[in-house]
Amino acid sequence: MSVFYTVLNIVVLFLLADFTTGIYHFFVDTYGVFNSKFLKKSVDPLLLHHIDPLFITRQSYWQINGGMYVFSCVIFCASLFLGFYWELFLFLLFCSNGNLIHKWSHVEPEEVPEIGKVLQKLTLIQTKEHHAQHHTNSFMGNYCVMSNYLNPILRVVRFWELIIKFLKLLGVEPVNAMKQKPQEVINGK
Ligand SMILES: [Zn+2]
Ligand SMILES: [Zn+2]
Repeated sequence: MSVFYTVLNIVVLFLLADFTTGIYHFFVDTYGVFNSKFLKKSVDPLLLHHIDPLFITRQSYWQINGGMYVFSCVIFCASLFLGFYWELFLFLLFCSNGNLIHKWSHVEPEEVPEIGKVLQKLTLIQTKEHHAQHHTNSFMGNYCVMSNYLNPILRVVRFWELIIKFLKLLGVEPVNAMKQKPQEVINGK
């Protein structure tokens, strides 16, 4: 396998992880509710960070990525019955660190580790400015938090709107989680 092909493979896997985690983020933002029966530990923090964008910065590496690691481990262990695929391993590793890149978009620039600063500067991962668009556009669009490259394409093809329209046809309406009283949820009232 040539070096070029390997690098291309890694880039594609990274973008695929960006897309996959972006889809999850879209569903949480659009259809998620506080205190949901399923995935509460993942959904609540994502919704809370819309109200308090610094919420994610106060969470540890394992708090923001732990759930995804568990999910990834299950998928990876199951896949071993079919053989070892480094591509799947790397893809799941990228997915599991998506929220780390997201966190780096929220912390103060001087708090981003050196490796993160370099990757942000080279736009090999998402920049703070790019992610800010998600927070300033009422959390509509820019659901992919790992790179700057997929969001503009998905916006042009109206990808997210098409999913919403399709699900509306099936009777599934978007939920505005912000209409709930998140502060009461946080306080456990
Ligand atoms: Zn954010
Ligand atoms: Zn969001």
